[in-house]
Amino acid sequence: MKADLRGGAAHGVAMAGPSKPSDRASIRRTNLGLVLRLLRDSGPRSRARIASDTGLPRPTITGLISELVELGLVREGASERDGSVGRPSQAVEIDGRTICGIGLEINVDYLAVVALNLRGDVTFTRRIAVDVRSAGSEAVLDSAATLIREAAAAVQAVGARVVGAALAAPGNVDITTGRVAFASNIDWRDVAAVDGLRRRLGREAPPLRLENDAKLGAIAEYLVASASDIHDLIYITGETGVGGGIISGGQLMRGARGFAGEIGHMPLAPGGRPCACGRVGCWETMVGLGALLRHAAPDHDDPVHDPSLDVESRLADLRRRADDGDPRILEALALIADDLALGVALLVDVLNPRAVVLGGYFAVFADYLLPSVREGVARRVMAPDCGGCEVLPSTLGFTAPARGGAYLALDSVYQDPSATA
Ligand SMILES: [Zn+2]
Repeated sequence: MKADLRGGAAHGVAMAGPSKPSDRASIRRTNLGLVLRLLRDSGPRSRARIASDTGLPRPTITGLISELVELGLVREGASERDGSVGRPSQAVEIDGRTICGIGLEINVDYLAVVALNLRGDVTFTRRIAVDVRSAGSEAVLDSAATLIREAAAAVQAVGARVVGAALAAPGNVDITTGRVAFASNIDWRDVAAVDGLRRRLGREAPPLRLENDAKLGAIAEYLVASASDIHDLIYITGETGVGGGIISGGQLMRGARGFAGEIGHMPLAPGGRPCACGRVGCWETMVGLGALLRHAAPDHDDPVHDPSLDVESRLADLRRRADDGDPRILEALALIADDLALGVALLVDVLNPRAVVLGGYFAVFADYLLPSVREGVARRVMAPDCGGCEVLPSTLGFTAPARGGAYLALDSVYQDPSATA
């Protein structure tokens, strides 16, 4: 996990000046984080290699590894031949099976929770259908608190503990105050989401953070993509709201005040349909889930419009219709693909990503959408060969933002491993 999550501490080993006891403690904390992040980003390796990779003396590394083992964060893994003669040395790897982060996503028509341990294994996951806009923020925060409690109980049941939780919300969020400033699709304005959750969870509340759903989705997708050496990507949520999370050079792009990525409100259809944000012709009105439902199921009594039903089962229904050759859904998908290509090409021209990852319902219909989206993007992008960009379906489906939230919650461990003691 590298996206945006590497603090300045990664470069903090070369500290100058006299070493007071408080400095020594802080240098040790910094170095613990440095070693843990190295194992996360570069994989298991021997103590000798950790010493050469970090530039720290071998005895220091031995002490740091013992402390990380004691904290349950790393363990001795398989033996590794490091090229030297003699016995292979024991590789050290991330453990952290007893340490979990929780991510909770608030979407237009569902809440989803995922608990991941430090190794990235799913300890608990659940999604419930909720019509968030009509339920109102207080009732939604009640349900969110219940889901976090359930996830925490499941984590404790396997002998692990929760180090933090992060809330993924749509729209403009203020990560410093924990407030959702404006989320048009759920009609939240200035909702103190983190304070509200903390109050409900009381003394059980883990450290809580808030971030935009698309940015967290991008972090989760980046962990998948970075294994294929992709470090510049745009993740696009394909839900009622269309948001973007941008990873550039392995870092999450937030912009000056954290609002970067509001791609769903690019005005791509002048004089077009009204958008939930109050303007007209936003890209979201052309390619969001609402547009698919409008084109594919004009009859409002059609159960695919029912927000009390789980979004994945409604999409599975539409998917069956497409596979059966229902002309309305096929036409709808063709329209969506054209409009998707229009916006994606624009983003590719501006940002030159190595990959554009299509999430949410776009991934459910990937085989219908992608050929035409790829063709439309290739035709429009200025750079030769699309600037090296591939358009890919998300492999994480609707769990991407909640997973990203769990990773964000776990990041505190990488920044300060000794705090988990
Ligand atoms: Zn809009």
